[in-house]
Amino acid sequence: MTQTAYEVAIIGYGPAGVTLANLLGQYGLSVLVLERDAELYPLPRAIHFDGEVMRVFETAGLRREVEAISRPGLKGMYFNNAVGETLLIRAGTAARGPHGCATNHYFHQPELEAVLRSGVQRYPNVHALLSHEITEIMDGSEHATLLYKDIQSGAMHTTKARYVIGCDGARSLTRKAIGTTMMDLGLHQPWLVFDVRLKQVVPSLPDHTVQHCDPERPMTYCNVTGNRRRWEIMLMPGDKPEEMVQPENLWKLVGKWVTPEQADIERAVIYTFHSVIAEKWRKGRLFLAGDSAHQTPPFLGQGMCAAIRDASNLAWKLEAVLRGRAHDDLLDTYASERAPHVRAFIDLAVKLGDIIQTTDPQAARERDAKFKAGQPEIFHFPTPRLGLGAWRGENAPAAQIFPQPMLANGRLLDTLLGLNFAVIGDPSVLEGVSDRTREIWKAQGTVQLSYMDPEVRAWFDQHAVRAVLLRPDRYIMGLAESSLALDRISTLLPAAKTIAH
Ligand SMILES: Cc1cc2nc3c(=O)[nH]c(=O)nc-3n(C[C@H](O)[C@H](O)[C@H](O)COP(=O)(O)OP(=O)(O)OC[C@H]3O[C@@H](n4cnc5c(N)ncnc54)[C@H](O)[C@@H]3O)c2cc1C
Repeated sequence: MTQTAYEVAIIGYGPAGVTLANLLGQYGLSVLVLERDAELYPLPRAIHFDGEVMRVFETAGLRREVEAISRPGLKGMYFNNAVGETLLIRAGTAARGPHGCATNHYFHQPELEAVLRSGVQRYPNVHALLSHEITEIMDGSEHATLLYKDIQSGAMHTTKARYVIGCDGARSLTRKAIGTTMMDLGLHQPWLVFDVRLKQVVPSLPDHTVQHCDPERPMTYCNVTGNRRRWEIMLMPGDKPEEMVQPENLWKLVGKWVTPEQADIERAVIYTFHSVIAEKWRKGRLFLAGDSAHQTPPFLGQGMCAAIRDASNLAWKLEAVLRGRAHDDLLDTYASERAPHVRAFIDLAVKLGDIIQTTDPQAARERDAKFKAGQPEIFHFPTPRLGLGAWRGENAPAAQIFPQPMLANGRLLDTLLGLNFAVIGDPSVLEGVSDRTREIWKAQGTVQLSYMDPEVRAWFDQHAVRAVLLRPDRYIMGLAESSLALDRISTLLPAAKTIAH
């Protein structure tokens, strides 16, 4: 039995846990990560992330490394009917998008996780233990206590942490300790996931994702990276899972596109896609993040993205509270902000699921007629606002993420912001704030920028505002048209509590 106290304990070293470990590592917090598996999970689930997620990796100082193992998505996702007519397109382009990078990225999950784990090694303050399984979590007034097992030796240990973040996936033990139920958002469907590695170039395979909305057998085709390709294949009534994963059946299912002479099987596994969200994401010192808090069918490629947004939302709040600059109730805004945000993505994925998973031929004909009435409809990822929380403002873009423009000097905006709060605005508005506001900014280490750069100025003109207050996760904390309004929103900064009126 050992007893050490950490500021944060992270349970689970998947995408949510490793991203949070990187972000907290940067802040210098003492962090323990406990992961049951001895090795990186070798089989990919996620293959896509969006521009906002690349921006989080950039904040974590890992953009170059992640770019080296991923590729930008050029054409988005096409929803085609049984005869190959395009009904709907999720837009895609490799051009620089609002986050200062491409809007879609494709990757092999074990390679991404390896990059993120090696990123954590930069931080002596983060201690990651593999082959260690949490068996019990007890909340307490000063600390939470964790009981965990060294799987190799069988030895049991305990440790204490000020906060425990359960990044422990869909079957989360932390969720049980919190005692929450999952709200059912309506979609639960088994799909076969079939990954191959091409042995030769197959020119007929598209370089973009295709949702084959064929009522006889809905399927998704994805170009991953390099020679990796994936088919996700819906199970139909009467399909026997054990037969579905047999090689002869797999090749039959994808025979229209690829043959065993052209590719090797990497794996074939059946997953049940779920759409659920936890009713409660926090109890006392325990929190949920990633799949432990929410799961979405992967039709938008957004489950892991949501996990990484959770980490980004939580990291700066944990730092502010643990360093005594904010009251513990700032941490309540994590769930109140994140839950409606992720819900918007899950709801859209469920709606797309209804389109893709149509198996009734008449319903499919009606769907096709509706979409074919015009040109294929083009849609983008949603840009929901955060739920109510640590921000102020009636209307968007308050509580939305601020873009990352390229500055006139060729640098991206975030390179000037670091892990800090920032105020960007018209020089006269910034100059006109009160002395108290200046003190708050200083105490908070707030970066001040005037919006002289053309791309930044264009954003201000478009939204008819003159100053914006940004959080370290780049979400807009508040907007101002005057110095007085900027004084008001600056009181939202955690440091405001410590500066006298
Ligand atoms: C077929 C498929 C395709 C997908 N495609 C995409 C996509 O393209 N884009 C996207 O964004 N998302 C996608 N997703 C979703 C994505 O894979 C998940 O949302 C993401 O992996 C969740 O990360 P996580 O860190 O929350 O959980 P996990 O990856 O499940 O990690 C949880 C970790 O916790 C560990 N753990 C659990 N219990 C304990 C314990 N008691 N003690 C110690 N350790 C423990 C586990 O071993 C595991 O390593 C897809 C999912 C599937 C199934």
